[in-house]
Amino acid sequence: MSYDFDLFVIGAGSGGIATARRAAEYGAKVGIVEFDRLGGTCVNRGCVPKKLMVYASNFPKDFKAASGYGWTVGESKFDWNTMITAVNNEVDRLNGIYQRMLDNSKVKVYQGYGTLIDSHTIAIGEEKVTAEKILIAVGGKPVKPDDIPGIEHAITSREIFHLQEQPKRVVIIGGGYIGVEFACILNGLGTEVTLVIRKDKILSGFDDDIRSEIQEAMKNQGIRILTNKPKINISKTDIGLELKIAGEQEETIVADAVSLAATGRIPRLENLGLENTKVEIVNGAVAVDKYSQTAEEHIYAVGDCTDRINLTPVAIQEGRAFADTHFGGQSKQMAYDNIPTAIFSTPEAATVGLTEAEARAKYGDAVKIYRSKFRPMYYTLPNMQVKTLMKLIVETESNKVVGAHMVGDYAAEIIQGVAIAVKMGATKADFDATVGIHPSSAEEFVTMR
Ligand code: FAD
Repeated sequence: MSYDFDLFVIGAGSGGIATARRAAEYGAKVGIVEFDRLGGTCVNRGCVPKKLMVYASNFPKDFKAASGYGWTVGESKFDWNTMITAVNNEVDRLNGIYQRMLDNSKVKVYQGYGTLIDSHTIAIGEEKVTAEKILIAVGGKPVKPDDIPGIEHAITSREIFHLQEQPKRVVIIGGGYIGVEFACILNGLGTEVTLVIRKDKILSGFDDDIRSEIQEAMKNQGIRILTNKPKINISKTDIGLELKIAGEQEETIVADAVSLAATGRIPRLENLGLENTKVEIVNGAVAVDKYSQTAEEHIYAVGDCTDRINLTPVAIQEGRAFADTHFGGQSKQMAYDNIPTAIFSTPEAATVGLTEAEARAKYGDAVKIYRSKFRPMYYTLPNMQVKTLMKLIVETESNKVVGAHMVGDYAAEIIQGVAIAVKMGATKADFDATVGIHPSSAEEFVTMR
């Protein structure tokens, strides 16, 4: 049987585009369908616009530091509209680049909603295409908790990039990395921020020291963090949104017309036609094996729609492993150990490998922790009390570094390098034998005792 395409990809986000291009490089005939903008969540409403806003939010700290170095900085003023317009212009520019990259790779791009009508056929509006192999890369979408009355008045991270005006007061619900990042961004830009979380600490799943350090720093910067607040009720009033928040004590907060629900994401599987195939859904996500294969032999899935580790580089690497295996004559599986990740909070944090709790659960007493907390040189002249925390977790029998964590400036840049060593199985002796770059914060990772 002959098909229109060797591979057809549903969803042109991080995973879909990377896979389509890699398969096309190997000579496969590839098509891709996208109903929204090319680039997916990361480029249009995730990592990229968020990081640009993080940069915008960091200037007040640097203005403050500048005076310690002899600079007189005039009155600073922030204009939300200028920033949002610039951020969205950059997103537009990236959309154009994605289109050109796909064209150059000879991937045929369809604009529309892809629905599987049988296991080899995809409908895009009136048109139908067939493919020998199909990749589902439809990503995820934010979900608002349905147990909060009035939650329909809250926006999600999706809408924040298009707000025409800066909110003066905002309540962010949810202490995951997206909630924490937006709390820091908006606070840095001058919005009055309250972060409401159900538990006692933000960022569950991350190393405890990292969680406490960021939470403390956020409070010191003026972000109110209301912990152990399981019940929230939102109503719209003349003066804004009224949030009644119950916990140990009840409290009422009034926010602008904006409160942000950063409470999680789920795979976007609606109207995808999975019921017309043998593809299985488990816990709301497309079920796949270690080769990203679904229960239907020639249908594969990568990225957030499989709800494994929901990060852009993971979606890309899963997709490339699939393309290398099926079109490049190699046999590749995605490796999920030692995936580094960052929290673009203020202060920034990044991490690779096991948390202390995970290491203790895995290795018992055979764990040694190295910790260092210091004021980076940059903050000495301005006399600012900004600290960096670094932590190494070593499994003492093999002497291997099994976790590295950091809170402080450039954490993501520094941990990316450390991650290579951890991934290669470097020991603490290897770290110690590495000469530091002086003066830097990063050298602390090779001098810890
Ligand atoms: P997506 O990028 O979401 O792409 C899926 C695409 O499929 C979308 O464009 C969608 O429109 C399209 N689609 C869906 N259904 C259909 C259909 N039936 N037909 C046609 N098209 C369809 N990750 C990081 O690594 N670092 C970060 O700093 C980071 N920050 C983030 C910040 C925010 C606010 C958010 C929301 C996410 C962030 N992420 C970050 C996560 C990252 O964006 C995702 O992990 C990544 O985009 C997943 O890629 P994907 O290809 O699986 O899905």
